Amino acid sequence: MPIYLDAAATTPVRPEAVQAALEGMTQGFANPSSGYPPARAASLRLEADRAVVAHALGCQPEEVCFTSCGTEGNNWAIQTAARLGRRKGRHIVTTAIEHAAVLEPVKALAAQGYEVTHLKPDRTGHIDPAQIASALRPDTILVSMMLVNNELGTLLPVKEAHQAIEAAQCPALLHVDGVQAFLKVPFTPKELGADLLTISGHKIMAPKGIGALYVRKGLKLPPLLLGGGQERGLRSGTEPTAQIAALAAAIRAWSPDDRDRIRAVKEHTADLLSRMEGVEIISRGDAPHILALSLVGYPSQPVVRALGDKGIYISSGSACHRGKPSHVFAALGLPPKTLMGVLRVSFSPFSTLADGEAFVQALGEVRQTLVCR
Ligand code: PLP
Repeated sequence: MPIYLDAAATTPVRPEAVQAALEGMTQGFANPSSGYPPARAASLRLEADRAVVAHALGCQPEEVCFTSCGTEGNNWAIQTAARLGRRKGRHIVTTAIEHAAVLEPVKALAAQGYEVTHLKPDRTGHIDPAQIASALRPDTILVSMMLVNNELGTLLPVKEAHQAIEAAQCPALLHVDGVQAFLKVPFTPKELGADLLTISGHKIMAPKGIGALYVRKGLKLPPLLLGGGQERGLRSGTEPTAQIAALAAAIRAWSPDDRDRIRAVKEHTADLLSRMEGVEIISRGDAPHILALSLVGYPSQPVVRALGDKGIYISSGSACHRGKPSHVFAALGLPPKTLMGVLRVSFSPFSTLADGEAFVQALGEVRQTLVCR
């Protein structure tokens, strides 16, 4: 049986979510906007599912807007926050270790004349909250920061960013990329002080193709898509009811024990790795599911491939980089041999202690077959 340890890239879909999607595509296929009883049922179901997402986020259902993925939520939040703030300023604060789905839209704004400050992490992948306060200016219109880093599992000081914005009295909106944090660490957008917060279904055992953007009540966000007026006119398009049902089912199926079990597997794996010669733990992660390490001196791509041949699936960093060196690990200022060997292992509620042990054993075997640079 293959061992899948790349849950930060994507997760298997939970049986409960598969079942909900199937029902949404069969009995529940009607368009929620139509005028006959099955459509009415689909509309009620849609709103019940929205309430499940809202409950998990500790917010009002009308603050949840469904999207197709985390990338869409991040792009929408960043582009429109910039549009909302354009008369107040043209300065944006983000970090050097954001996902490309934040860095690229911010880069596009920079090309349009916005000024961007990228906060730098320390060697452990944390951002000093003092940096945020000193980066803010009277013309800062957006702070975009992830809650959990996808390659290191570190927690970023989002609450402190909100406090700094309040103290500075600048017009900045706070956007939080909550894709890796949702259900893995306890938070609500309200307690973080977020105006906008992105989540994505496929990181929590729902299918790909569904996500949500939290939009704080009272925030007049310009629409992403114009058309039939779905999602309160913010994102038109017939709602993907089957994916939405699957997202709600995956959330309902997530138990508070899952976090502890995932963390136990990660810690056990990290303990075994820390006793292995030539392995450096780069980040044990504050979040329960992500562990970053380096097989120092061994280029990570061949290691990932050799483990894959043994049926053990991990990542050499963010799956979105497709072989390019990761900007996240590069930002840590690691020595070249450590940087060359970075690996990310990430766990889901389906991961077991035995999976972690098998990975460590296989890593030792693979090292024997490869050449250290
Ligand atoms: N933000 C973070 C932190 C992520 O880890 C990812 C995916 O890896 C995304 C955004 C993009 O999400 P999606 O794949 O749903 O577009």
